Amino acid sequence: MAVVVIKDQCNGCEACLASCPYEAIEMVDGVAWINEKCTICLACIEACPVEAIIQEESKVELPDLDKNSYSGIWIFAEQRNGKVSSVAMELLGAGRKLAGKTGEKLTAVLLGHGMEEAARDLVHFGADEVLYVDDPALAQFNDGPYASVLGDLIEEHKPSIVLAGATFMGRSFIPMVASRVNTGLTADCTALDIDPETGDLLQTRPAFGGNIMATIICPRHRPQMATVRHKVMAAAPKDTGHKGEVHVIRGLDGIRMDDRTKVLEVVEEIIDTVNLAEADIIVSGGRGLGGPEGFKIIEELALALDGAVGASRSAVDSGWIPYSHQVGQTGKTVQPKLYIACGISGAVQHLAGMQASDVIVAINKDADAPIFDVATYGLVGDLFQIIPEIVRSVNASRGQ
Ligand SMILES: Cc1cc2nc3c(=O)[nH]c(=O)nc-3n(C[C@H](O)[C@H](O)[C@H](O)COP(=O)(O)OP(=O)(O)OC[C@H]3O[C@@H](n4cnc5c(N)ncnc54)[C@H](O)[C@@H]3O)c2cc1C
Repeated sequence: MAVVVIKDQCNGCEACLASCPYEAIEMVDGVAWINEKCTICLACIEACPVEAIIQEESKVELPDLDKNSYSGIWIFAEQRNGKVSSVAMELLGAGRKLAGKTGEKLTAVLLGHGMEEAARDLVHFGADEVLYVDDPALAQFNDGPYASVLGDLIEEHKPSIVLAGATFMGRSFIPMVASRVNTGLTADCTALDIDPETGDLLQTRPAFGGNIMATIICPRHRPQMATVRHKVMAAAPKDTGHKGEVHVIRGLDGIRMDDRTKVLEVVEEIIDTVNLAEADIIVSGGRGLGGPEGFKIIEELALALDGAVGASRSAVDSGWIPYSHQVGQTGKTVQPKLYIACGISGAVQHLAGMQASDVIVAINKDADAPIFDVATYGLVGDLFQIIPEIVRSVNASRGQ
């Protein structure tokens, strides 16, 4: 669905400009033009005196879905350094409950190298079947090859449900898989169930900063894909008597590998002493710090406030601070009493990890930075001038 202007009909009266609450209409060559800020609120259609603005229905045709040709509940068993993560057992626990309702087979998909024993062990945690793809290129996580391999497996086997952990790994490559197999994805689910009437997967997750719980369905596409928050679902108990088949796929049997990136080295990170997820105050720095030395004033402010240090992905990717400090979609989700974002633009992926904070203070020299849209208090200016002032004043008020 889109809102469009019939150019020949527009008389350039500009009545629509004032009607738009989102500044989504511009005048181009004397004719109204709808830009990407449009939310399809339709206010401009009412305002146009010459009916030159119309709502255009989407021309995307949805295919007739043969739900019966999709069967099986899959869980993605993620591993790090050859060790299956505990989130896989939680997914097996959730998958088993769903399989009990639909009567489908529960399959664990494991991608790695030299992990036959771990693959067999997944059967003891309730998998009826394990698809284990063994290849040196899959030993360490790399979103391109992982998305290719899982996408190919889904296209070949057609499961009706695919679940993965809402971990940095799942958040990074599962959206690529969903896009590849042309289906929807519900991220960060905290509850899953089966609709007794339609058999559709009911995917429940917090929405609007946790103020409501939304139950999302995917009735017209298959598979139904969801990522599930870690430590929310009960892990499947180990039962060495449980029987299942393990299929080892080697040589990738024609599975296409997307290998534009290679993992050159895996650097073990020192476990952070500060637990960001539990901190009441977080001071985060982004690319606006200009370099690793910029984190010195972030640390000073965090110290003055007894807070922890967070970071945007750009700062982490630039090597200025370890990944354990990253806040956002592929980092940590935090909800402190006070979050101070310094030199962070406010990309959606960063907001996803911190916008539920009680009070957000943004310091940015660009008054139009999107971080100000979620900020409780905004300070427009140079962080290198503002932060030392705050540190001085906090220390003075504490008598230091
Ligand atoms: C799949 C995916 C997952 C992602 N996951 C995450 C994630 O978990 N977390 C995350 O943060 N990002 C994530 N990103 C990246 C995200 O899209 C942004 O690229 C990133 O958040 C930008 O980081 P930044 O705000 O530090 O940098 P920029 O966007 O470059 O912003 C820097 C800001 O600093 C300001 N600035 C510059 N100098 C100063 C100064 N002296 N004083 C004050 N302000 C100054 C600028 O005005 C600008 O607004 C992800 C992206 C993808 C595609």
